[in-house]
Amino acid sequence: MDLTVAADRAALDKARDELGPGRIALVPTMGALHEGHRSLLRLAREHADHVVVSVFVNPLQFGPNEDFSRYPRTFDADLRVCEEEGVAVVFAPSAEDMYLPDRQVQVSAGGMGGVVEGAFRPGHFDGVLTVVLKLFNLVRPDVAVFGQKDAQQLALIRRMVADLDVPVSIVGAPTVREPDGLALSSRNRYLSEADRRTALALSRALRAGAARAGAARAEIAGPAGILDAARAVLEEAARFDPPLLLDYLILADPATFAPVADDHRGEAILAVAAKVGTTRLIDNMVLTL
Ligand code: AMP
Repeated sequence: MDLTVAADRAALDKARDELGPGRIALVPTMGALHEGHRSLLRLAREHADHVVVSVFVNPLQFGPNEDFSRYPRTFDADLRVCEEEGVAVVFAPSAEDMYLPDRQVQVSAGGMGGVVEGAFRPGHFDGVLTVVLKLFNLVRPDVAVFGQKDAQQLALIRRMVADLDVPVSIVGAPTVREPDGLALSSRNRYLSEADRRTALALSRALRAGAARAGAARAEIAGPAGILDAARAVLEEAARFDPPLLLDYLILADPATFAPVADDHRGEAILAVAAKVGTTRLIDNMVLTL
């Protein structure tokens, strides 16, 4: 089947009607597709007969001093990726098509939307949940796939689906990394060679924390020991040129994103965010305590 590009909601309706029977999987993206996105498209195919990809740089989820206007836009290359991965429909609406000029109502991410990543990006998760719910209503998928790379986003989408009875199954996909550990991100293309060397400290810090967690099964190091191991790597990188400027390092409860208690057992998310040059990067790893 050929790829259909739907540039507005009328074209999406028509393309959706023409898909025929079978399950539909939606993969929401902001474009500038890379191997991480490809892994989501492949996982989506395993869960459905038809894959719909949205490509929409959502103005609602960017703060006034963030990178909305310079966010990479590579639509032609994105279409080739979607074609290669057997995507049925690419939905690429304009902001004017997505949002009514007199719009009022939006989704609130609640308390969990204001902590960790949300504390540094006020309103970000409200913007994310609003666009995701709108995409669910427009595409009406059976299943939607999101990356664990954006762990708090994935947790909030699961929360929204549960709290608002949204009839879509949510599938989480593991983070795809470069061979040297750097998590793939559309924003990596902002990095100079020197930036990139500094940026490697994010994944190195997570691995140091994970190694301490592994050792902790025998030695009982606990959350404080895991955070210390990760923080040592980040403090070293704060002295690099360019320096790593830490926003946060947290060992969080996967369901609430509150810091885990000292006696926490089970899964915990070691999450980090930092600026390198003009680029802000996030990464995380799921640990078992
Ligand atoms: P974005 O285009 O950055 O909004 O991302 C679209 C989807 O791709 C989100 O569900 C992300 O979590 C996911 N994603 C981004 N980077 C990666 C990665 N390195 N590995 C796996 N999924 C990713």
